[in-house]
Amino acid sequence: MPTPLERLRRRYETTDKKCPECGYVDEEGNWTSRTDGRRIVYRHVCPSCDASREHTFTLG
Ligand SMILES: [Zn+2]
Repeated sequence: MPTPLERLRRRYETTDKKCPECGYVDEEGNWTSRTDGRRIVYRHVCPSCDASREHTFTLG
């Protein structure tokens, strides 16, 4: 069973591929995640124009 966080990450990897800046579609879905224990931050850097996007979630 995937955890809710894994499901969330997968959702971004599969649905949020298109860069809003340049329109590049990143089929690899290069989202990275980091956490400080209280929040989890998903970040994507566009391989075409280097625009970065972040989604932040509070845990618990
Ligand atoms: Zn881009």
